[in-house]
Amino acid sequence: MRGRIDAMAPRRRPKKVRVDFRQNRQVRRRQDDWTQRYRAGEPDLIDTEAVESVRAKGELSRRRTILVDEADRPLVDEALWRPGLVTKVHGLFCYVRDSAGQTWECTVRRVVRTLLIQTRTPVTVGDRVWFSDHSEEVGGRPVGVIERVEPRTSRLSRQVRGCREQTIVANADQLLALVSVAQPRLTPHLLDRFIVAALKGGLRPVLCFNKMDLLDDVPVIETREDRPLRMTAMDVIAEFQRLGYRCLCTSAVTGQGLDELREVLRDHTTVLSGQSGVGKSTLLNALQPGLNLPTRPVSRENEKGRHTTTLAELIPLDFGGYVVDTPGIRAFELWAVQPGELEAYFQEFVPHVPQCRFKSCTHRQEEGCAVVAAVERGAISERRYYSYLKMFSELQAAGDSR
Ligand code: GDP
Ligand code: ZN
Repeated sequence: MRGRIDAMAPRRRPKKVRVDFRQNRQVRRRQDDWTQRYRAGEPDLIDTEAVESVRAKGELSRRRTILVDEADRPLVDEALWRPGLVTKVHGLFCYVRDSAGQTWECTVRRVVRTLLIQTRTPVTVGDRVWFSDHSEEVGGRPVGVIERVEPRTSRLSRQVRGCREQTIVANADQLLALVSVAQPRLTPHLLDRFIVAALKGGLRPVLCFNKMDLLDDVPVIETREDRPLRMTAMDVIAEFQRLGYRCLCTSAVTGQGLDELREVLRDHTTVLSGQSGVGKSTLLNALQPGLNLPTRPVSRENEKGRHTTTLAELIPLDFGGYVVDTPGIRAFELWAVQPGELEAYFQEFVPHVPQCRFKSCTHRQEEGCAVVAAVERGAISERRYYSYLKMFSELQAAGDSR
């Protein structure tokens, strides 16, 4: 009875779909085989063999009929399934937090994976899911099977080798780009990258300038081909403010800006990003004592076997909301953007783009470029324009090496 989709009364007329199984499962796989397949690099999560029977009668028997809603998701069976939030994905398991705050160790039903095959990352941190309770079968341990994944409102992805996009976090609503004004030195270009990554994923970028107690007038130097651009940290902050981004100035030492930071995080799901050493852990600990970021950046060795690495983890905040720590992601890796898309994420370029002489203008050295004209008359900042050029070549180089 458990997990039977047709046990509920459908609200809308359900659609029937035939679902292919990807493997010939006439021979029941043992756990070892799964482990091996998984180690070999196939990131599929599996369903529990106890809850799905497949008749072994050749080609036909490897398809079955299930009931789905208009968006091809299995119909929710509220009597048998519970809603939850995926807080961590590790190896074959998803850790799902239920409404009472209990964490369940879940696998993913194969049919769910099959339906979501296009997305490549069927279940990810931040996903809202429905799962069935299988604790009875394992002596009461909180173990379940994910039966359905709700549509995502945002997706933060990265491009992995082989041109595949991998979703790291789903349903986050903001990205907090954390930098320090000194030690390590402020790198505005990195902030521009975080902004692009956030906008691409459908998240609101929020910039946090930490270590304000170390603020000085030493210019931040961003090099460009002919001459370096010299601005102080305050100039950089003012520039991002003029662009309309929320900028927080904090210090874990003096307590400056901590109340504002708490208000920004409250009741939101916020992805934290920033190079190591900028004060991520110290700041969070100051907001919520005892909240130690649980995981440290992965070693190079671990990175190779990335499927066994925890890329991201959702951490509940006492005062409401979640922060997403991304220890398995390098600071500048948080995106999957094509060079040609970039102009759309440099929002101050957008009004000028239609005035470029050539439709395919990349705003680098084309004649009649309205973006370059806007830079020349001071309507677009030189620093942002050179940051765009730098990012364009970085993306091209990344594309070439894939
Ligand atoms: P993470 O790698 O981003 O998590 O950085 P940490 O939280 O480990 O901080 C790195 C170093 O910066 C530590 O020595 C902290 O004590 C120091 N630090 C963090 N926040 C501040 C701050 O606001 N001001 C100053 N002066 N130091 C800070
Ligand atoms: Zn142009």
